[in-house]
Amino acid sequence: MSRFANKRVASLLPYTPGEQPQDKKYIKLNTNESPFPPSEKAVAEAAKAAELLNLYPDPECNILLDKAAEVFGVQKSNICPTNGSDEILNFAFMAYCDESTPAVFADITYGFYKVFANLHGVPFKEIPLLPDFSLDVEAFKAAEGTLFIANPNAPTGIALPLGTIEEIVASKPDRIVLIDEAYVDFGGESAVSLINKYDNLLVTQTFSKSRSLAGGRLGFGFACEEIIRDMNTIRYSTNPYNINKMTMAAGVGSLADEAYTKANCQEIINNREFTADELRKMGFYVVPSCTNFLFAKSDRISGEELYIKLKENGVLVRHFGTERLTDYNRITIGTKEQMEKMLNITKKILEEAK
Ligand SMILES: *Cc1c(COP(=O)(O)O)cnc(C)c1O
Repeated sequence: MSRFANKRVASLLPYTPGEQPQDKKYIKLNTNESPFPPSEKAVAEAAKAAELLNLYPDPECNILLDKAAEVFGVQKSNICPTNGSDEILNFAFMAYCDESTPAVFADITYGFYKVFANLHGVPFKEIPLLPDFSLDVEAFKAAEGTLFIANPNAPTGIALPLGTIEEIVASKPDRIVLIDEAYVDFGGESAVSLINKYDNLLVTQTFSKSRSLAGGRLGFGFACEEIIRDMNTIRYSTNPYNINKMTMAAGVGSLADEAYTKANCQEIINNREFTADELRKMGFYVVPSCTNFLFAKSDRISGEELYIKLKENGVLVRHFGTERLTDYNRITIGTKEQMEKMLNITKKILEEAK
């Protein structure tokens, strides 16, 4: 830290992204990316857009939002486009939390929520997940503040049914409830259908996981028009050009190829269930997942040792060192071939650990 940094910056604890090694080719199962390339339509649209990079992108993102409105069955005025869904999360912390309105989230959830709370200097309350890692619904209903709920949750993979989400949203008519649906396409139920019923609901989604566009950085906030106006006020106060031309075009291409996204999600779901079964046969406890990753632990090896041994063998998974999570690893679901390799290497590691 330089001596010029203000107090707020000096005390920041930034988010630690998963490793993106550039040195050697790993089977990369650590950051929940898609193992499949983007849709050919997305790639072709982005390449065309590259020829027009001398011009600023359309700040209203009209072509993208027209297409998104059609695909998601909402009005264009119900969508705010952002640079990854991390950006809309940031906007929500800016708009809906302050000293008297704390951010409320689970003790085990997406690590960025706490980072944003610190960044904006707002108080936060962490509600412990129940022993089986499910959300303490009653505690959320009773909590005072703006609620941030990842559904399905990460890194556990557990999803709440839409009815329960609706109960929580309905229980807090005077507070914003943000539902982070980064993984919804892998088996969750989306709350986008509720945005016009509840004026306190903000739903976020991303193109990073199910749509194979993590490198493009594109996310959406879905909400009633008033909330979207708040989000756009912040967007136009930070960077009206937050969606670059190539990403905007890639997003349009992706939304024009829903069959491709659906097929990929189904493949991931199949590979997930196959991998979970195989891990259980090896004695792992595997948390039931509605996402593109599994959260698993074994009595035969510590979470950290398995992470290290897998890495030595060319397989990257994500290990979290915090107390409640340290026994586990989060394993992103890749292709069938990648999962078979990971399973074979894991089997070998367990045998050697005996
Ligand atoms: C990956 C992820 C995001 C954000 O991803 P972006 O790439 O910024 O869209 C948000 N929430 C959760 C729970 C995630 O796992």
